[in-house]
Amino acid sequence: MTVNIITLGCSKNIVDSEVLAARLQRMGHRVFFEGTMKSDIVILNTCSFIGDAREESVNEILVQVDRKMRRQIKKLYVVGCLAQRCKAELEAELPEVDGFYSFADLHKMVDANEFDLLGTSERLLSTPPHYAYLKVSEGCDHQCSYCAIPLIRGKQVSKPIPLLVEEVRKLADQGVKEVMLIAQDLTYYGLDLTGKRELANLMEALAQVRGIEWYRLHYAYPLNFPYEILDVMNAYPQFCRYLDIPFQHISDDILKDMRRGGGSQYIYDLIARIRETVPGIALRTTLISGYPTETLEQHKELVEFVRRNRFERLGVFAYSQEEDTPAYPLGDPIRRNIKTRRVGEIMQLQESISRELNEAKVGQTLKVIIDSEERDHYVGRTEFDSPDVDNSVLVTKEKPLTIGEFYPVTITEAAEYDLYGTLT
Ligand code: SF4
Repeated sequence: MTVNIITLGCSKNIVDSEVLAARLQRMGHRVFFEGTMKSDIVILNTCSFIGDAREESVNEILVQVDRKMRRQIKKLYVVGCLAQRCKAELEAELPEVDGFYSFADLHKMVDANEFDLLGTSERLLSTPPHYAYLKVSEGCDHQCSYCAIPLIRGKQVSKPIPLLVEEVRKLADQGVKEVMLIAQDLTYYGLDLTGKRELANLMEALAQVRGIEWYRLHYAYPLNFPYEILDVMNAYPQFCRYLDIPFQHISDDILKDMRRGGGSQYIYDLIARIRETVPGIALRTTLISGYPTETLEQHKELVEFVRRNRFERLGVFAYSQEEDTPAYPLGDPIRRNIKTRRVGEIMQLQESISRELNEAKVGQTLKVIIDSEERDHYVGRTEFDSPDVDNSVLVTKEKPLTIGEFYPVTITEAAEYDLYGTLT
């Protein structure tokens, strides 16, 4: 049958869809991603991280139910975090859906006794062929007060190093050149396997795989930071000088209330040591604005944190009250317009910081991977830019370039979130 897999949410969901796709393909089905074409089956992989994500998932279910009613598809199945978290309510409210599958039930969808999303190196890529995500573990052992992920994905389960190396070898054989390492918490990788932090060992093993030119690290947890990974980053040019490390806040009281561990001084020292150990590293972080107990003073502290640390990449979320999380009883007292104003203030500051950091790159020659071709320029990224979330380099069209290839580009101009350049 023809199966169209639609994926919402984070990069971990993308990998889950790709693993499911490979299994369905092995069963003889023809599998597509994201298409709007007619198909026998649609599998919708949903997200339930925060309120807005749940809303987007429910709206997409309704779109697909409508398509089923108009006979554009025969069967509709819903998987992923929303199915995991709200299966009973959804089954009651949406009888038109042919099945809601929690993670534990997924094997039923593929007619198998068991189906472990982490237990295979087989994937059918849905990303452009030159880059891929590598999910090194699922679940999380932390209990951040605002976060529902441990409730949805459970405790951390790490994928063994040999299986990950095999997976990356297969990706390299398919022409993948860039791999983003992802997890709920990358820095705790391996603790459940050996009782020790194994990320540095994993990085060493991946560095031996031929064909991958760029590895990028996402979702590092600040507390008890494994500094040894920075030495591996320095030892192997394949590891981009890039680290995604969500800090969420900087106020000691808020960090304590969020159950993040560590404190403001720990975070300032951590950032200083990372920048000292890996000169020129790009730090990406995410922050939460409008946490229930956040005072105006604590908001100003967060603004000052952004001003002083000049992150290369930064995102801010307005606090979303999540059922059954430790913070839920605090309510959501900070009005939406206040949250929006606080988020706006931080992003306005970040815009000027990002422009200044980009302007400092004018005149430099940077290694750029080409992602796509537009009418009068190519779009690419540097080692400091992850797909879909970071900056782009717009490269003037002088001669035909190959998508997925690397080129030296001299930066001629800068904007807030983009660089402009010509081939060197
Ligand atoms: S580290 Fe905290 S925010 Fe991240 S997934 Fe785990 S509980 Fe959620």
